[in-house]
Amino acid sequence: MQGVGPHRAELLEKELGIKTLGDLLSYYPYKYVDRSRIYRISDIDGNMPYVQLCGQILSMESIGEGRGRRLVAHFSDGSGIIDLVWFQGLKYVEKSVTCRKSYLLFGKPQVFNGRLQIAHPEIEDAPQDVRPMARTTGYLFDDEGEMNRTTDQPSAPSATRAEGGDGLSFRPFYNTSERMKKGTINSAMMAKLTANMFKLLKEPLRETLPPYIVQKHHLISYDEAVRNIHFPTSADLLRKAQARLKFEELFYIQLNILRYARSRQLKYRGLVFGTIGDMFNGFYHDHLPFELTGAQKRVIREIRADMKSGRQMNRLLQGDVGSGKTLVALMCALIAIDNGCQACIMAPTEILAEQHVETIRNFLGDMPLRVELLTGTVKGKKRTEILDSLVSGKVNILVGTHAVIEDSVVFSRLGLVIIDEQHRFGVAQRAKLWMKNEVAPHVLVMTATPIPRTLAMTLYGDLDVSVIDELPPGRKPIKTVHMFDAHRQNIYKLMNHELSLGRQIYIVYPLIKETEKMDMKDLEAGYEEINAAFPTYKVSKVHGKMKPAEKDSEMQRFASHETHILVSTTVIEVGVNVPNASVMIIENAERFGLSQLHQLRGRVGRGADQSYCVLVTKYQISEETRKRVQIMVDSTDGFEIAEADLKLRGPGDLEGTQQSGMAFDLRIANLARDGQILTYARAAAQEVIDGDPDESNPQNDVLWQRLRQLRKDNINWGAIS
Ligand code: ADP
Ligand code: MG
Repeated sequence: MQGVGPHRAELLEKELGIKTLGDLLSYYPYKYVDRSRIYRISDIDGNMPYVQLCGQILSMESIGEGRGRRLVAHFSDGSGIIDLVWFQGLKYVEKSVTCRKSYLLFGKPQVFNGRLQIAHPEIEDAPQDVRPMARTTGYLFDDEGEMNRTTDQPSAPSATRAEGGDGLSFRPFYNTSERMKKGTINSAMMAKLTANMFKLLKEPLRETLPPYIVQKHHLISYDEAVRNIHFPTSADLLRKAQARLKFEELFYIQLNILRYARSRQLKYRGLVFGTIGDMFNGFYHDHLPFELTGAQKRVIREIRADMKSGRQMNRLLQGDVGSGKTLVALMCALIAIDNGCQACIMAPTEILAEQHVETIRNFLGDMPLRVELLTGTVKGKKRTEILDSLVSGKVNILVGTHAVIEDSVVFSRLGLVIIDEQHRFGVAQRAKLWMKNEVAPHVLVMTATPIPRTLAMTLYGDLDVSVIDELPPGRKPIKTVHMFDAHRQNIYKLMNHELSLGRQIYIVYPLIKETEKMDMKDLEAGYEEINAAFPTYKVSKVHGKMKPAEKDSEMQRFASHETHILVSTTVIEVGVNVPNASVMIIENAERFGLSQLHQLRGRVGRGADQSYCVLVTKYQISEETRKRVQIMVDSTDGFEIAEADLKLRGPGDLEGTQQSGMAFDLRIANLARDGQILTYARAAAQEVIDGDPDESNPQNDVLWQRLRQLRKDNINWGAIS
């Protein structure tokens, strides 16, 4: 790369994947600070975000030995003293930092043992003309890139680069690794390299969006945005640069997804299910034990419209736990059967598959339909018989685990695939099912993990979405309470009361890794304790280390009310239906994600009785845990909870996102915060796809070129078609 020596070039490539000028320019700062704002140490307190200081190191000392060694420098600007502390890279610091020399430094002040300190400050030689200023001026941006000013700085009226903005001077801060810092590429060096790159540029950066899109969405030019994202000339322009680049990033992701969905539509004709026949009608009139909810009816209509459209359906059905998705799935399967096809329902675990079969057989009663179960444990003669009946078309509905994907499973005419609890099946596995029929079957993906809209648009952006947003009538909302583990007697009181009414109880322990000894000990100890405290009741124990058959039989004992209390790890998380259970106790609730807590809670409240969820934590919990627990206590709405979880934890940690491996290495946009921009970006991308279906409009050439480039550079993007 021009302007960078071989050593640095290697570091940039190894550590940050920066290979080209373009890569460097799209490695954006993670925060900014106004260079003209320098604090006086006497004005600093431990609650402030990052601050800039100017002064000298009075003395340095090395404290501790070996791995525990640290360096402490006493830094002063004349108004006070603050300690600078380093725990790593000590040799480098000792070599490069000198006493009695003026430095400009930057970091987050903290109070430690009653003394002000900054750990691992960014440090550089002070320019001649800087002076600390009194506190009134305030700081600028926090590390999340949002404005965080303490004073009202009038923003310049649409300043341009030439006008020099509003007179602020922003310094960009870049993330760099320890290795890079040792190789002398710290944040300041990144800024210098980037600035040099701009100097080498002879002309403005080429626009990456067509002019009509730039105009329509009131965006600034690509050149202006990139320059200002690195070296903002005003607060206003920085905001506009961020808006432009976030829009662009999300726009191209959406364009990629929607283009894929469109090409799939063109590639795969859909089976046309034109009739509603005897099976659907017979079931609806004679077998349906209750009235469908409004939401169930609406969703069935949406699915039905897809299935007769001539296009292959690819639809995501979201519905909170207990909203009645199984019934919707069954009724859609009946439409497929009425049109001479078979249906296949895939569940993530054997026990869920078994439950589906049982539920469906119960619903169907004496209807002349054959429903079979195929899992890994169905073997030998039985298996051969099922496979034969499948090929000959005698089996109408096949329910199974991923065993149904195997090549040996051949349908006579597969018309509809329903995937329950989708996030355990990847896109590739879904695609494999399509190959099971000459014409790709319709695909319905069901999930009970509500996904915030912004995430759904990115993760499942190629699917149409239906939502069941209504629970069947007569359900009492589950009462959720927070209890401390020290108050176990209160928990036992509630348990005794419910048990005496003939109800059953779940107690769940977290299990982060199946191998973690601690977790097993918790579970074992809990099991012993419960046995001792409830001698007249039978207790089941289920955990991930048990053999599947053992696990299933113990679950069955609980399901058939042979046992009264089930102590388990999260193996019961998904889908298990024991309507008589009325209490869900979650131990160490702080170790679960909100969506997971919500899933677990959904195991109770399935009958008409009042149900309870008890979140148990220790007495001392962090502020964040307290907030999370409170959300669970206050809300039973899965979508609301998922949104809150997204805000608290960020998209990378949410269940279901890791597996997808898609679009989470966003450079600048943030799915938790940029929902509005995402909505615009998706609409803009949809407009392009609709308005230029054969990609022949020369105005859009720049789009397809850029998209090809992005797909080449981004492995995850390439993988979705
Ligand atoms: P989930 O969406 O979590 O898969 P289920 O399909 O297991 O929910 O349904 C939960 C319970 O609600 C089941 O016992 C089911 O029979 C019942 N159910 C479904 N639809 C209705 C309805 N419209 N009215 C009353 N009960 C219903
Ligand atoms: Mg279900």
